[in-house]
Amino acid sequence: MKIADNHVVTLNYTLTDNDGQVIDQSQDGSFAYLHGAQNIIPGLEKEITGKAVGDQFQVKVPPAEGYGERDENRVESVPRSMFPEDHDVEPGMIFHAQGPQGETITVTVLEANAEEVKIDSNHALAGVELNFDVEIVNIREAEQVEIDHGHVHGPGGHDH
Ligand code: ZN
Repeated sequence: MKIADNHVVTLNYTLTDNDGQVIDQSQDGSFAYLHGAQNIIPGLEKEITGKAVGDQFQVKVPPAEGYGERDENRVESVPRSMFPEDHDVEPGMIFHAQGPQGETITVTVLEANAEEVKIDSNHALAGVELNFDVEIVNIREAEQVEIDHGHVHGPGGHDH
C-alpha cells in the first residue's frame, strides 16, 4: 500500500532545526493524520506521498512550505490595555489571541511597560528550515466520517 489521499498515516518523526536541536518528536506511533487533508505542513505531506510502511527518510522543508517566512510587520506595539489587567505581562511570555478569521494566533511578548507591549505574532517556527526524520509505521484507508471531518479518529487522532 502506497500513501495517497484519504489514507490515515501513522508515523514516527523527529523534527530538528539546522543546528540539530530537537524541536518536536513522536517516536511511539502515537501520531496519525489524514493524508491529503492539509493536517500537516505541505512540504512534508508532499514527500510522504507514495511511501510505504517501514520506509525511513529525511525531509528538509524550507520555510515557505513549512510555517512561512518571518514577517517583520508582525512585530508591533499594542496598548497594554489589550492584555488582561490582572495578569503580569513580561518579555518571553506567550499569549493566545484571535486573528481576523477567528484563527488562534500565538503572540510572544518582546517588551512591556505600563502603557505599551511590544509583541511578535510570527509563528515560532516562521523562517526556520525544518528537518524531519520520518518512519512510516502504519497506513490504512480512512473511514468516510474521517474524510468528511478532515481528520483522523481514534488512536493518535480526534476522540469525539
Ligand atoms: Zn471528527
